[in-house]
Amino acid sequence: MAPKPLSPCPGYAPLTSGHKTTDWEMTSMVKESLNPFEIAREQVDRAGKRLKLEPGMLDILKHPKRELTVHFPVKMDDGSIKVFTGYRVQYNDARGPFKGGIRYHWNVSLDEVRALSCWMTWKCAVMGIPYGGAKGGIICNPKEMSKDELERMTRRYASEISIIIGPMKDIPAPDVYTDSQTMAWIMDTLSVNAGFAVTGTVTGKPVSIGGSLGRDEATARGAMYTTREACKKLKINPRGATVAVQGFGNAGYNYARLMQDELGSKIVAVSDSKGGIYSEKGFDPKRVLTHKEKTGSVVGFAGTKKVSNEDLLELDVDLLAPSALENQITSENASRIKAKISTECANGPTTPEADDILHKKGVLVIPDILANGGGVTVSYFEWVQDLANYFWTKKEVDEKLEGIMTRAFEAVWTMRDEKKIDMRQAAYMVAINRVVEAYRWRGIYP
Ligand code: GLU
Repeated sequence: MAPKPLSPCPGYAPLTSGHKTTDWEMTSMVKESLNPFEIAREQVDRAGKRLKLEPGMLDILKHPKRELTVHFPVKMDDGSIKVFTGYRVQYNDARGPFKGGIRYHWNVSLDEVRALSCWMTWKCAVMGIPYGGAKGGIICNPKEMSKDELERMTRRYASEISIIIGPMKDIPAPDVYTDSQTMAWIMDTLSVNAGFAVTGTVTGKPVSIGGSLGRDEATARGAMYTTREACKKLKINPRGATVAVQGFGNAGYNYARLMQDELGSKIVAVSDSKGGIYSEKGFDPKRVLTHKEKTGSVVGFAGTKKVSNEDLLELDVDLLAPSALENQITSENASRIKAKISTECANGPTTPEADDILHKKGVLVIPDILANGGGVTVSYFEWVQDLANYFWTKKEVDEKLEGIMTRAFEAVWTMRDEKKIDMRQAAYMVAINRVVEAYRWRGIYP
């Protein structure tokens, strides 16, 4: 049966004009809910029940603390005015200031931002860094906007959400289709309005304005460390192991590069929103990036066959890294995944039903809140450096990141062994325990 295009959940905001559905938004015959916030809540429920949390505490953990929706006008290059909708959801700050990225995407919705902010809460807790969770997003198609339009939209959005963000309150960072330039505009907007440079207001900035060395590749470097640790546990030699990566953005590209250059793995498949490529012999992701920069896609890279984003996930490889968007591995395709380890560089790529299937099949999933926690960890380093106005070498950043990633991995692995559960359940239990402990100390006001 031909896959039928679905928006990822009912109630999703309409697509912006001119957007064509790409193949990783197509999902065929999926039975379970694909609403990311319903999924996030189910994951909390599963862990909460195992932890025997009282219903009131579980209820707290299943609700965001604060949600801001903003509708704001932007002058477009052709002289017209367009009203955009953006969100900032502050999920939980029991352990410290809110922290999380900002996403630009045509499928952004309040429920997606809620889910992403919920996942940030557990991510910061499992990494053991002193933050709560938040996330922001704007419904837009950044691929169809000029740099000037993106700058005006970013500055106006930053200004609209400035009432709730700041270095001691809530610190944004890059996410899907935002980058260090986006963060520089936000930092500048808030600084101009404050009257002085407030570098600690966002992370993921360019190094020349208070960014940290190593932040650009941190998500991927962290994911590479967790894959290395998982390989040790499963006695898989990463050298020569075959790797398929779905997504070729900051996380996917750098993951492929680091797996090859630092662990000696063989990258056999990568993809972007236009499709994927496969070669049994493997290829150098750095050369694929050059090709993508010239042609706009990884597709067509010399010596490779075209594969769809869906087929890429089912390739007979040792290691898989879903590094794009949510809901890629569902009850429909989970039974066909052949990889031994799935490292989630993306947030929310696997549904709870798919988790159960993968667990039964013996596929080790390194869950998003652990696998991609390197990004927010180096964001934390950046914020610490900004507040101290004292900057570290790349070596210092990488060493500290490696320490945090391997400790977090070990804590989750121990929980997994103790409770005989999958890695996601274990990561949630570690994270929720830490958040609940913070609640117990702080108490419920008044
Ligand atoms: N957007 C990234 C994530 O999902 C990074 C967040 C941050 O650095 O605050 O983890």
